[in-house]
Amino acid sequence: MAIKLLGDDVASQIAAGEVVERPASVVKELLENALDANATVITIRVDGAGKKLIEVSDNGAGIPFDELALAVARHATSKLSTAEELFSVRTLGFRGEALASIGSVSKMRVVSRSMDETAGGKIEVEGGGPSRIEYSGVPQGTVITVEDLFYNVPARLKFLKTDATERSAITTLVSKYAAAYPHIRFDLIMDGKRVLQTPGKGDMREVLIQTLGLDIAKRMLEVQQDFPFPIHGYISPISLTKPSRREITFFVNGRWVQDPALTSALVQAYHTYLMVGRYPIAFISMSIPADELDVNVHPAKSEVRFRKPDEIFTSVQRAVRRALMAYSPVPMMAIPQWNKPGSSGMSQPVESAPMLWGQDEEVSTEIAPGFPLQTAIPEARASLLRVVGQIGAAYIIAEGPDGLYLIDQHAAHERILFEKMQTSLASKVNRQSLLVPVTLTFDAVKAAIIAEQLDVLDQYGFNIEPFGPNSFRVAEVPAILSGVDPEEAVRVLVEDFEENETPLANLREAKLIARICKRAAIKAGKTLSMTEMEQLVRDLQTCESPRSCPHGRPTMIHLSVETLERQFGRQGSR
Ligand code: ADP
Ligand code: MG
Repeated sequence: MAIKLLGDDVASQIAAGEVVERPASVVKELLENALDANATVITIRVDGAGKKLIEVSDNGAGIPFDELALAVARHATSKLSTAEELFSVRTLGFRGEALASIGSVSKMRVVSRSMDETAGGKIEVEGGGPSRIEYSGVPQGTVITVEDLFYNVPARLKFLKTDATERSAITTLVSKYAAAYPHIRFDLIMDGKRVLQTPGKGDMREVLIQTLGLDIAKRMLEVQQDFPFPIHGYISPISLTKPSRREITFFVNGRWVQDPALTSALVQAYHTYLMVGRYPIAFISMSIPADELDVNVHPAKSEVRFRKPDEIFTSVQRAVRRALMAYSPVPMMAIPQWNKPGSSGMSQPVESAPMLWGQDEEVSTEIAPGFPLQTAIPEARASLLRVVGQIGAAYIIAEGPDGLYLIDQHAAHERILFEKMQTSLASKVNRQSLLVPVTLTFDAVKAAIIAEQLDVLDQYGFNIEPFGPNSFRVAEVPAILSGVDPEEAVRVLVEDFEENETPLANLREAKLIARICKRAAIKAGKTLSMTEMEQLVRDLQTCESPRSCPHGRPTMIHLSVETLERQFGRQGSR
């Protein structure tokens, strides 16, 4: 075939593919236009999962009559005139592509009246064909109606997911914008039924109540930071998690941004408080200087590039950490104070602190802005718990300065092993030779996995060598697992490798260690001697995060003296 220039309609359709992938992308572009027009009320109507009808009405600035034809033309925008301005855009749109793209793959009608005109206009485009314009008496604002999306690109229609999925993509999208713009009233109506309506009073939590439900929204913790750039939002406490990262949302400069690195920065702020495979719910909106952000990375504008990503990530982490610590789920446990001047100079590394049990006047429950969250605490103060006994061969009862503690022996031991193992991995793993090497035989699949992972196992302190068909000889184990059945430990590892399709890539240290520790830790049901319990409680108190096991379950329950008094009806008698 000879080379020829593509016709305008074909070129438009090809370009449209990048902007308009599914009904939700149409809704997104139309919403963004309404927001750019400074609307305060936006109504979205959707029929037939958006394939039949999408209509977005706003009370924004409107389009002047003689610009209507340009609005639907490709590369026509009122938001940008020079390429340099790309790095200072304050509007969500700037490519001048959306209306042209949508018009080329649907039957589109734009009805609008601008602020300073008395008559409005109407323009219709069908499948990118010639447009028809006429005057029309309408209120100020814009109504864009998109019918029969993809009617002329059947291949696209075929690629759409089920109606339920497309509907849910639209609802999710509108919910996110509604939360990011709490000052604006959003109204979403699907097949005649109202799906979402927000009050537009400027309160983000009020919107989250609509979108996440009251039960969840009321438990969310507020994140608020002004410096070095404004961050505002809500995050779930450690007790409220989801099995995927999907409910972590970021808006940067009013734009919904999907950035895996930003998401992991947030997840990391939860440290080891989250159970393996669980993720927080978060809605974070931040504003950074326009020139710190490149928004022109992708036609759908959902990807951005940060000029200084590390600074952004660190700030987000700090803000999230602070919110988590300030709303400590165990209120009786004081939050460590920052370093006192002189106790450990700024240049020295800050010793990580055991969490305090009990309170004294030196301990503030507030965290001063910008201070490190860890602190040095004199060793002598660390051991505040006195072991009283054991119940159900599973829980240790201890007395602290401010009441009773019930400690889950298994969870506590898991936490201790976890931190020890992390420390030993950070340095060099201490290995322990087995007096008598153990020979283990696996089925062919497992044996193949082990054979592939011998190096990794070695890093973790296991010396394992092939020893006949499907058999291996274990000569060394990590020192901290010396009390554990080596067979048990190796089997845990293999299961972990097996679960991950690409073990090496997915080999997340913490996850792996957590699993080993789970198997290795003292089980519930084991009677402990007084000395063993005392050792356990002492070790727990030196942990960096003594309150939860590596999977996020609590290690202890605290009944304060106050609670006890209330329970016994003695409140106020002191
Ligand atoms: P972009 O948003 O990138 O400029 P669009 O194709 O989405 O490109 O829109 C083209 C132009 O039409 C916009 O620049 C704007 O001037 C005008 N426009 C579109 N939608 C609206 C609206 N809801 N209210 C006011 N003006 C609008
Ligand atoms: Mg636009």
